[in-house]
Amino acid sequence: MRKPFVAGNWKMYKTVSEARHLVSEMVPGLQAVSGVDKVLCPPFIDLLAIAALLEGTDIGLGAQNMHWEASGAFTGEVSPPMVAELCKYVILGHSERRAYFGETDATVNRKVQAALAHNLVPIVCVGETLTEYEAGRTNEVVFRQMKLGLTGIELPDGNALVVAYEPVWAIGTGRAATGKGANAVVADVIRVALAEQFGSQVSQEVRVLYGGSVKGDNAAEFFAEPEIDGALVGGASLKAPDFIRIVQAAAASQA
Ligand code: PEP
Repeated sequence: MRKPFVAGNWKMYKTVSEARHLVSEMVPGLQAVSGVDKVLCPPFIDLLAIAALLEGTDIGLGAQNMHWEASGAFTGEVSPPMVAELCKYVILGHSERRAYFGETDATVNRKVQAALAHNLVPIVCVGETLTEYEAGRTNEVVFRQMKLGLTGIELPDGNALVVAYEPVWAIGTGRAATGKGANAVVADVIRVALAEQFGSQVSQEVRVLYGGSVKGDNAAEFFAEPEIDGALVGGASLKAPDFIRIVQAAAASQA
C-alpha cells in the first residue's frame, strides 16, 4: 500500500507574513488528518519562517526548485544543502520552470541526482503541453521526460522519489484531466518507465501524484484511481479550507 501524498505548490505567492498567516490557518485542519503525507512548498524566502511553524507537526516542507551544484558563483540560485537544512522535499521540473526558465530534461536529471545526494525527496513533474496532447503525443512526451529525467538515477527505495503527472493544459486552467485519463498515463507510461529504471518492485512503491486544477470537489475522482497516490495542488493550496478538504479526500480514499 502506498501512503497518499498531497503537496501544495504555492508558486510565487505569499510574502513571509502572508505565509505565516496561511500556515497558522492550515495547521490545525491538516494535523487532524492522519494517514496522508502532507507537504507545503512555499517560495524560498518563506521557508525559514514556515519551518519554524511546522516544527513538532507531521506536515512536511518542500522547496519549488533548486540548483544542482552544492555551492558556487551562481547568483540568485539556491543550493541543495541550503534546501536540505530546512526541507525534506523539492519540486523539480515543474512545467512553469520548463516553459519560462529553460529547464530541460537534462537539468532536471542533474537536479534529481543532487537532491538524492543530499537526502532530499524530489517531486519530479512531467506532463505534456496542450499541443502535444491534441496531437496524441502524451505518452511519448511523458515517457521521454521520465526516461531522460531519471537517467542514471539509483534509489535506495521507492519512498526516495515522488513523481507528479501534470498535464500542462490542466495547470491553472480549471480544466482538469479525468481521473481515468490520468490513471492511464500513470499506469501505461509512468510506472512502465519507473520499472525500466528501478525494477518492478520499486516502481510499485513510488508515489505518483496527479496535478492540474485539483480542487476540493474533484480530488476524490483522482484519489479513487488505483495508480494515483495523491495530488500536487497549485491554486487550491493557497486557501486553507480548500487544501484541507483535498487532504481529507485523500484520507477518505483509504477508508
Ligand atoms: C501546479 O502548480 O503544480 C498545479 C497543479 O497548479 P493548479 O492546481 O493551480 O492547476
